[in-house]
Amino acid sequence: MKELIGVDLDAEVLRDAFALAEVGAKSRVIVALTRLKPVLATKLYVHVNGRSAQPGQHPDSFTRFVRTIHQHFHSNYLYNIFEALQELGLPDSQVVLQAYRSYREQFKSSPKLFDVNEAYSLFALLRQPDVVKDCCDECNTAYFLEPFELALGSATCPCCRMVKRRQEVGPGESRQSVVA
Ligand SMILES: [Zn+2]
Repeated sequence: MKELIGVDLDAEVLRDAFALAEVGAKSRVIVALTRLKPVLATKLYVHVNGRSAQPGQHPDSFTRFVRTIHQHFHSNYLYNIFEALQELGLPDSQVVLQAYRSYREQFKSSPKLFDVNEAYSLFALLRQPDVVKDCCDECNTAYFLEPFELALGSATCPCCRMVKRRQEVGPGESRQSVVA
């Protein structure tokens, strides 16, 4: 590890940086979560994945995360894990890593909607001060809403929306295709 990086760094930072690269985190995300120098993060990504990261923008608004019932259901799952892990006092790198691993496990039998870079974008967006965080009176699930959604008056708990959607879809469509 030291041969790759060429300098002494905190072992936990390196461990998390490697783990992030292994699940596909791009250098920008590795840098943001571990404070590794950008040149080292890029080197690490190539070392772990055998190639450079695909170019592409990361979501900088909630649109990607709440546009459909499924997106909001998946992103709200991540939100709840983020909150739980933050309450434990874990560093941001561990919060994003563990939440993403949990998300992959939870949705492993259906196509996951978000990659680790998007999970990080959501994590960062949720820190914006105007994000509304609430708890559903019906199912007791904690959920987040973007201000625009709230202004439209269309704000409802993503879990209740998903249950309603399943009821509308009926037995003809499998549960898996509704959750995915
Ligand atoms: Zn609910």
